[in-house]
Amino acid sequence: MALILSGRDAAVSFKNKIKAKVQKRIDDGKNAPHLAAILVGDNPASSAYVRGKVRDCKEVGFKSTLIHLKDDVREEELIQNIQRLNSNTEIDGYIVQLPLPDGINEKEILLSIDPMKDVDGFHPENLGRMALGLETFIPATPYGILLLLEYYGIETTGKNAVVVGRSHIVGSPMSILLSSNIEFGNATVTLAHSRTKNLKELTKNADILIAAVGKHFFIDKNFIKDGAVVIDVGINRVSGKLHGDVDFDSVKNIVSAISPVPGGVGLMTRVGLLMNTLQASDGRD
Ligand code: NAP
Repeated sequence: MALILSGRDAAVSFKNKIKAKVQKRIDDGKNAPHLAAILVGDNPASSAYVRGKVRDCKEVGFKSTLIHLKDDVREEELIQNIQRLNSNTEIDGYIVQLPLPDGINEKEILLSIDPMKDVDGFHPENLGRMALGLETFIPATPYGILLLLEYYGIETTGKNAVVVGRSHIVGSPMSILLSSNIEFGNATVTLAHSRTKNLKELTKNADILIAAVGKHFFIDKNFIKDGAVVIDVGINRVSGKLHGDVDFDSVKNIVSAISPVPGGVGLMTRVGLLMNTLQASDGRD
């Protein structure tokens, strides 16, 4: 039976470390890290994600502020809120929960975020710094995946890794990080997407497979090499249940390790955000 890469267990361990660092800040007379979140509208998934992030903050001793705007908010008004957060010295970092309603230009919104407070790591300056191996905020999901690999001591150096999905928030940064000369990097990486012609051929050769497609059970045993490590990023709601991009039951006896959905990468994404917020507050001392 495969090793289950439990985001739940790993998250508890990393959160305990974060909690201790927050306590040390307080003992040293510094402020608790302060994360703000802008939520636009009432998309149930987005509301649930933001509520989870606020709960996490409480758990590790961060302050949090939630700014909830109506879904018909004008772009200028949203940007004014962002500018207020940029100049608010009490806020260490903040996120604008995506997706945003139609009519709001997501790129303009990202560009108006102060890169020093961009704890989601989506600003082009931060993505560029990540690509160059400079200190930055790593996007929370790939960061969480690196932490999961670290927690379970999964060797990546010299391995063949295939990332399926090239979004700016998951697949693309994940492929850059896995191929970088960093701990839990140094893999030989293939980045696949919807125009990839020989997907199964590529994934059958993957020692590490990261699925970030957004299609439930897209990856089954026919895509998997014996003994592969599989990281399932997908969160797909089907008939009220959450499913990953990987058909867990079909691959569980072939893989050596796999992250479950739920209870895998989602929880680690939240840890990635906490780590970035802690880093932001340390950077502002
Ligand atoms: P996205 O922006 O929709 O990107 C999906 C990617 O999959 C695209 O690059 C697309 O290729 C590729 N793709 C689609 N069909 C394909 C096919 N038949 N063969 C190969 N590639 C294909 O999605 P995302 O934001 O990266 O999210 C992916 C999944 O992860 C979703 O289920 C999302 O809910 C989940 N997610 C989870 C977390 C977490 O914390 N666990 C965080 C973020 C996202 P093209 O570029 O060619 O269209």
